Amino acid sequence: MKAYRWLSVAIISLTLIFIVAITVINKSKVSVNLRKFPYPYRAALTICSDIDSIETVEEFLSIHEFLNTERVTRFGKGLNLEIGDTFWMYSNNIRSNQFTYFEGLTDRRSSSAKVIEQFAKAGYLDALHTFGDFSNYGGFKRELAEKAIKELKKREIKVHIWVNHGDIYNTQSMNNGKSNHKGANTSATEYHADITIPYGMKFLWVTELTRIVGQDRKVELSDLVHYDWKSPIKTDKEIIKAYVGEITISTINSGNKLLRIYELDDGQLVYIFKRFNNYQGNIWKGASLKYLKNQISKDVLEKLKNKEGYMIVYNHLTEDDLLDKDTISALRYLANENKKGEIYISTTYKLLNYNLIHNNLVYTTIDDGKDVTILINNINDKVFGQFKPTIRDLQGLTFYVPDDVKVKVVSRDFGPINVKNTLPILQEKLVYPSHWCPSTILSDYGCSFF
Ligand SMILES: [Zn+2]
Repeated sequence: MKAYRWLSVAIISLTLIFIVAITVINKSKVSVNLRKFPYPYRAALTICSDIDSIETVEEFLSIHEFLNTERVTRFGKGLNLEIGDTFWMYSNNIRSNQFTYFEGLTDRRSSSAKVIEQFAKAGYLDALHTFGDFSNYGGFKRELAEKAIKELKKREIKVHIWVNHGDIYNTQSMNNGKSNHKGANTSATEYHADITIPYGMKFLWVTELTRIVGQDRKVELSDLVHYDWKSPIKTDKEIIKAYVGEITISTINSGNKLLRIYELDDGQLVYIFKRFNNYQGNIWKGASLKYLKNQISKDVLEKLKNKEGYMIVYNHLTEDDLLDKDTISALRYLANENKKGEIYISTTYKLLNYNLIHNNLVYTTIDDGKDVTILINNINDKVFGQFKPTIRDLQGLTFYVPDDVKVKVVSRDFGPINVKNTLPILQEKLVYPSHWCPSTILSDYGCSFF
């Protein structure tokens, strides 16, 4: 018995020594903190536009030349922003939309197909606005999804964002519990989620809108209450509503995430995202280019920066006939916020992917008090499974370390990563996909984007 007692004392003592040692080691650890946004930005924004109103390749190129280049365009000098767009494979619309990958509902490549392929491979066309436009007439069948996915795979076009579209005839939309959205309903003839999600669709917009400026940030009383000292009763009512009822600060806070895990009708899990629209009337009407200046007004952008939020603006950028002087000024103001290093602006895919990588990055730090090594392990993706990030996945990630410490960033898979003044680890890669290819203007398609 005595021997056991001594053994117990020894084990307990060793454990205590170990705990003390760990505590001391931890205390001497160099502090390493992951910054929320790529350095030096204070917030992140993109415009996620539906392709509905574009009918010709010329219209598409005209607006994107203005958004994505610095050339002198019909709207003035280009904005040089990384703003992408959505696209369609088919159209069953009587307007005979020509800006679709296939001609009508056939499997013949349209005259726009080359441009669509090139912009999709470059990262500018980063979202399918469902497989096509079936508004007013319907006509979507599973075979169309099969043909579309086969073509996208054959051409090595990778699209990871799906945006639901249109009226009740657009039964190809995917959702959960919405009767006219049958894309994920296993008993419907329109069912296609079993091929579309495994193809690579990761981020879905299932028609969720928000008026809250900035997601992935804390919602406060001032977000819900418009203090009007001349009408104290009205203000009081708003304050009470913020704490009692169905839509309170705490319910909004729990849902104010940029990405949420969502189960589709067929049980598959995906990430869904919200789009922002602050139009005060019918929120669906606010997605017109006419209202863009209010969605990206100076006040909205100031609030977004102060709250350090992410925001995906919902609009139809391609209604270029509505691109008036005030909207162009608002876009110029936004472009300047990006240029000044205030608001990170990129394509919807890059923004969503950055958010996913940032929030699920698993890394460890090793240091001797002077030098620190940040070891990138993996991304703990809770929906599609843990994966090893590529260099492109890591672009923009920024770590803060003390000034007097030497830092090294190492990936388990591709070794040491280029570090720029410790901030940020991959700043030089931030520009992808802004390699606008001059030859995309209609004639020559020989240019490589990477
Ligand atoms: Zn649409």
